Amino acid sequence: MKMILETKDARPHKNIDAAQCPGCPSNLATKLVMELVFQVCEERGQDPIIFGQGCGIGRDIMHRSGIGTHDSGAVGMHAAMEMRGIDRPIVVIDGDGQIDMGMDDLSGGFQYGAPYLHVVCDNQSFAASGTHATGMTDMFAKVSTRANGRIGGPDGRVQARKQPAMMVKFSGAHYSATASPAFFRDFERKINTALDNLPAFVQVFAPCTLSWGYDDQDSFSITKLGTDCGIWPLWEWADDTGFRRTHEFDESKMPDQLRAYLDMQRRYAHVTPDDVGEIERYVRDLNALVDKMTRSFQAPA
Ligand code: SF4
Repeated sequence: MKMILETKDARPHKNIDAAQCPGCPSNLATKLVMELVFQVCEERGQDPIIFGQGCGIGRDIMHRSGIGTHDSGAVGMHAAMEMRGIDRPIVVIDGDGQIDMGMDDLSGGFQYGAPYLHVVCDNQSFAASGTHATGMTDMFAKVSTRANGRIGGPDGRVQARKQPAMMVKFSGAHYSATASPAFFRDFERKINTALDNLPAFVQVFAPCTLSWGYDDQDSFSITKLGTDCGIWPLWEWADDTGFRRTHEFDESKMPDQLRAYLDMQRRYAHVTPDDVGEIERYVRDLNALVDKMTRSFQAPA
């Protein structure tokens, strides 16, 4: 088992030994999740087990063998602990590459219903192995395997990214949400709510300095702008409270905010005005989907 940390005595700052890029938002998000999990569990007298892998999550950890962060591993671990009378919360933290590589495990784990929390720090790339595209890479973003930078997917498609947080809720999660470290109170509340509604899934917006091409001091600004402009809508979906948006989308401000967001990243340096129009349409469609989900999946009466 590849543990990031095993007990509350080993604090989240220990995760710095993984040799991430300076200012890595995935690493920051991982530390935030770990700190929050330890705080909540300490208040409840619980001793969590947190394990994970990924580029910003821990590059050196990823290179070791083991069961990784596959959800079947978390389910099996819970079953083994249950048989031995061990009651410790299980938390998995990894990146969006795992959504593509482990979708069978991901959906199967939630369908099985074991009580664990899976957090994905989504940097929209396989950052650890060369910044090629994942199914979560946004349209028109340049990836390392496409020299002209006009292709958003590994097979030449220009299309919208997957929505794993919705897929997982349909697979059996009791709680699923998107989150952004730039909106910490919302982030904190979602991790707390997730721990109360296991199995749960949280997909965290985690820009990548290297893959996205920006200076490391801009991580917070990009994270906030990406959330404000609507390309990363914030929502949550719980069995008892239904689907709801947790950060307003202001369509009148979107074009300027989106342009500023794109301009900060070298992965969008090639886009034409027509491309920007396409991305604007995509952001409108994405937020229309969130609104439809809100209308369709309200809290049970
Ligand atoms: S490549 Fe990206 S995800 Fe990996 S450590 Fe650097 S900033 Fe973080």
